[in-house]
Amino acid sequence: MIHFVGAGSGSADLITVRGARLLGEADCVIYAGSLVNPAVLSYAGPACALYDSAGMTLEEVIGRMAENERAGKTTVRLHTGDPSLYGAIREQMDRLDELSLPYDVTPGVSSFCGAAAALRAEYTLPGVSQSVIITRMTGRTPVPEGEALRKMASHGCTMVLFLSTGLLEEVERELLAGGAYTPAAIVYKATWPDEQVLRCTVGTLARTARDNCVTRTALITVGDFLGTDYGRSMLYDPAFTHSFREATV
Ligand code: SAH
Repeated sequence: MIHFVGAGSGSADLITVRGARLLGEADCVIYAGSLVNPAVLSYAGPACALYDSAGMTLEEVIGRMAENERAGKTTVRLHTGDPSLYGAIREQMDRLDELSLPYDVTPGVSSFCGAAAALRAEYTLPGVSQSVIITRMTGRTPVPEGEALRKMASHGCTMVLFLSTGLLEEVERELLAGGAYTPAAIVYKATWPDEQVLRCTVGTLARTARDNCVTRTALITVGDFLGTDYGRSMLYDPAFTHSFREATV
């Protein structure tokens, strides 16, 4: 059996209970070494074979999995954060389907959740934004034209940008062209021991990253959720009745 597992955003104790158990039972772990905290690998047993996928091709990863299956071994494919976001798991699952090899997926705490925790922020504030756009600046992996950053920014909702820290001049330009004159924050290595939170504005993203030597492993968060104004929730309003509580005023 092959288990895709989300390792969480950094801190080793942010892996799920299921993910830790699967690591403990694995004969082989193929981990995304560029971003998975090595401390997470301590959940694997002493006899477990470890492979860093950073230096492997898709074909080599699948070849290793297939060989393990032939030998009756259990494989964990360990991805950073949650595997469904920029995880390149679809192409692996499709190859495994072609080979009729069984797999399942265990979710993880994505770095965008880790970043909200680091910021002590809520992405969806009443009266501010009720949507979160997760996207990236177009780079070597192109972003479809309909999802150009300036178009995304024009919605005025909360945005979280992955994989864009090396392109902050362009990010600034695109966001401002879309009308996002809002607070912003760079969260470097959310939930890692050396986590850093850099609050700024959209217009100062590039300079803030430069001044703090942040070039990678960071998320860019954008929007008025980083400001001070918002409406309180209906759910906990004394004057609001819902299926679990009668209004008291
Ligand atoms: N599947 C992962 C994302 C993988 S793409 C997830 O759910 O988080 C890799 C990008 O994610 C990095 O370039 C960076 O933008 C972001 N990232 C991953 N871990 C991070 C962390 N702990 N703090 C800030 N950004 C992180």
